[in-house]
Amino acid sequence: MRLRNITGSREVIAESPYVVPEDTLEACPGTWHEIFGNDHPIHIEIGMGKGRFLNTLAKQNPQINYVGIEKYSSVLLRAIQKMEEDELPNLKFIRMDAEDIDKVFGKGEVDRIYLNFSDPWPKDRHAKRRLPSRQFLARYDVILKKEGTLEFKTDNRPLFDFAIEELEPAGWKAQVITYDLHNDAALMEGNVMTEYEEKFSSVGNPICKYIIYR
Ligand code: SAM
Repeated sequence: MRLRNITGSREVIAESPYVVPEDTLEACPGTWHEIFGNDHPIHIEIGMGKGRFLNTLAKQNPQINYVGIEKYSSVLLRAIQKMEEDELPNLKFIRMDAEDIDKVFGKGEVDRIYLNFSDPWPKDRHAKRRLPSRQFLARYDVILKKEGTLEFKTDNRPLFDFAIEELEPAGWKAQVITYDLHNDAALMEGNVMTEYEEKFSSVGNPICKYIIYR
């Protein structure tokens, strides 16, 4: 997914009105309703990629504020370019490593977290970098509202099995688990496809998903 050497991507990001400036992130916890200028719920996607999922949701649900978090400037640039076609006041982006997510959102400030097709980091020694790992769950535990929701989708079965195993030690429980989302009519209702979901489901990979309602 990482697109290298896109000349000027950092400059475009710095100037985009859709991106929360990096030097203001420390001041963001507890101020997200002010940033959006309303008190609508806040839903975030961590590891957003090119932003298609959030762009679709933001169009469908103007009464929800969406924040996309992406580590790489060159990838975020694609999401910004899409924004310029659409101009959605309820969608913002942050360029950051999600390791610091609990320094950018306040306690219980987020109503829903989406993890979609997170990087698998297949080596055991990198397990703590996986976005559904217990280390990340501990950060989500801080920022997610008590009655909040966490949703995770992937076609990577080893990553999904790992993600399920991480829940109990971290004190979480999934109320919904499927190993074949696209053949579950009830769960597919309202499903918004991500870029990776489209790519992998089109070659026949089953999509796994869990949903946690706290
Ligand atoms: N969610 C999108 C989708 O489903 O199409 C993109 C999936 S892509 C495989 C994973 C994305 O997560 C990449 O763009 C990667 O740069 C980003 N990412 C991975 N680790 C991250 C982290 N620690 N913080 C922020 N973004 C991260």
